[in-house]
Amino acid sequence: MQIGQVKTLINKSELMAKREINSVDLIAVSKTQSNEKIEHILKEGHRSFGENRVQEAYGKWPILKKHYNGIELHLIGPLQTNKTRQAFDLFDVIQTVDRMKLAKSLANLGQEKGFCPSLFIQVNTGEEPQKAGVLPKELDAFVKECRNMDLSIEGLMCIPPIDDEPSLHFGLLKKMQVRNSLKSLSMGMSADFETAIMFGATHVRVGSAIFGARQTKT
Ligand SMILES: *Cc1c(COP(=O)(O)O)cnc(C)c1O
Repeated sequence: MQIGQVKTLINKSELMAKREINSVDLIAVSKTQSNEKIEHILKEGHRSFGENRVQEAYGKWPILKKHYNGIELHLIGPLQTNKTRQAFDLFDVIQTVDRMKLAKSLANLGQEKGFCPSLFIQVNTGEEPQKAGVLPKELDAFVKECRNMDLSIEGLMCIPPIDDEPSLHFGLLKKMQVRNSLKSLSMGMSADFETAIMFGATHVRVGSAIFGARQTKT
């Protein structure tokens, strides 16, 4: 699919969901994709991108950010505490705040630098042992603790279990958003972004539907 076709489908879903047109932010997930493919999309005017590895992102984005104005780069993969500083300097949004140690590290850096990327808390809605994220029953307390240390949280993010009906997880995340008065919801990928929009996604993370299949599995 072309990115324009994905945007058309997003607009259709916004209409169906009685949401404002272009209110959903499309994050083009460019992990493992070549700079050539990424630049193709940049030249069409798209500016919002997602990467899941700090190291890989450093290989591509510093130079792209120099050449194109207004890029918004989202970290959508796990962040090790020893890479917090690097992530802080490159990413505009960190969607994977998943434990208190990381939250504290981000709060400290924010104090030191006087700014902070936008932050989303990743919620492990399927309570999968191998997956990162705050457990649903611990989320409210986690949000409160972040607020107590003056760490501003924009929203919540989830990656539903592969074999589950995604709408169950989208609905759950929506409830947690409302309950905690948060602004944004990052949910929905190539296979289910239209469903996610029906359930209130403000950010969808779409990779293969835009770029084609990835070269390596990540
Ligand atoms: C890779 C990835 C995506 C994009 O997946 P597609 O199925 O290719 O759209 C979205 N979110 C996260 C967290 C990812 O790692």
